[in-house]
Amino acid sequence: MTGLTTGFQLSGRQAEMLAELKRYLHKTFPREHECDTSPEWSPDEEYQWCRRYNQQLFDDGWLVPHWPEKYGGGGLTPVDQMLIREEMAYRRVGICNANGLDMLGPILLQLGTEEQKERHLRKIARMEEMWCQGYSEPDGGSDLTHLRTTAIRDGEEYVVNGSKIWTGHAMHADWMILLARTDPEQKGSKGLSMLLVDLHETEGIEIHPIRSMAGEVTFCQEYFMDARVPVANLVGPEHGGWLAASALLDHERSGVGHLAKTRRQLDDLLAVVAERGGVKESTAAKLGRIIEQVEAGRAMAYSVAQIMSEGDGFPPHMPSILKVWGTETNGQLVELASEVLGLDVADYHPEGLSWNFWSAYMHSFPGRIAGGSNEIQHDIVGTRYFGISG
Ligand SMILES: Cc1cc2nc3c(=O)[nH]c(=O)nc-3n(C[C@H](O)[C@H](O)[C@H](O)COP(=O)(O)OP(=O)(O)OC[C@H]3O[C@@H](n4cnc5c(N)ncnc54)[C@H](O)[C@@H]3O)c2cc1C
Repeated sequence: MTGLTTGFQLSGRQAEMLAELKRYLHKTFPREHECDTSPEWSPDEEYQWCRRYNQQLFDDGWLVPHWPEKYGGGGLTPVDQMLIREEMAYRRVGICNANGLDMLGPILLQLGTEEQKERHLRKIARMEEMWCQGYSEPDGGSDLTHLRTTAIRDGEEYVVNGSKIWTGHAMHADWMILLARTDPEQKGSKGLSMLLVDLHETEGIEIHPIRSMAGEVTFCQEYFMDARVPVANLVGPEHGGWLAASALLDHERSGVGHLAKTRRQLDDLLAVVAERGGVKESTAAKLGRIIEQVEAGRAMAYSVAQIMSEGDGFPPHMPSILKVWGTETNGQLVELASEVLGLDVADYHPEGLSWNFWSAYMHSFPGRIAGGSNEIQHDIVGTRYFGISG
């Protein structure tokens, strides 16, 4: 890590844990696999390598150390987990299956049945089953509570009809976290349910990859045509799925990933600036501003993890603040990098890596939209802060 602080004093145990992690990564993680975007979006060979390395991380106890031991964890705290993930993100270690690990995992631990926990958690963490998130629809992603996909109960099954879109990694996924309307009589956030859908075993699902403007295939659109999902795959209360769905989004929006990535890019930029003869006063002030934002963001992220470690719920507006703060800070840094590097921005590759500031600049735009656009986060912060229900 750099000279930046953690915002709190590490315990002796945490300091030793981080030192051990650094030794471990030094030994096991080759620099050529440093990955700045989601590994699921990398070429197939690279993705498969990442998946195997993530399996190794799990086997060696570094992937979900904060989960209960019963499900493959190590009984550590959310703060410990954040320290570990921050170091990994700083080293650009790709994490596969984030939909399962970081989003569905905590929801199953909180709301899943014992059968669901036993069935899914280890397979998620060992990368045996990959997950995608089926929330957004062609008629809108921001207005999620007005989604149109229905899952109507028929005995011990739900019959699903509708379409999902912008589903990242669906082409690699074995399972989907589906949000659908189970009670058409109810409106808005009422009458929705969260279902776990086996994409291989369920008939009546078509998955169509979408090629983006950048030429990459990163998203899919799925069509559900009388697809039958067992009632046993319902997570949380029937018709009360918004609780699970919004808690899952809180996990997606929290964390320290964007800030760790920004710290690494900041250090890379400082190295370039040093190579080019030092920092001009005007650039120093702009870099200083980014450092202020990174420090403030990390303090917020660790305070949320600290509250979780103590077993309390975090203030409901915090995940959205973290999401906006992390993605906007990253956007500002990569814009500054483009300014500093000028026309070299697309050609400059730090130490011969395939990653560069130009790709980081391009990826900063979808970052502001994924997980709910930043405009929508402002709305959520306001309504949650003032206790206005949707
Ligand atoms: C990289 C990436 C990965 C994604 N992965 C997934 C995934 O795995 N699963 C999934 O379900 N979805 C995924 N999405 C979709 C994402 O959640 C939606 O794109 C996002 O919620 C916005 O929805 P939309 O695209 O339908 O835009 P719209 O909702 O149509 O919004 C269009 C624009 O209008 C603005 N806007 C809309 N309503 C308001 C308002 N009330 N006030 C102010 N501004 C408003 C929005 O901010 C946005 O700029 C992903 C998106 C990206 C970019």
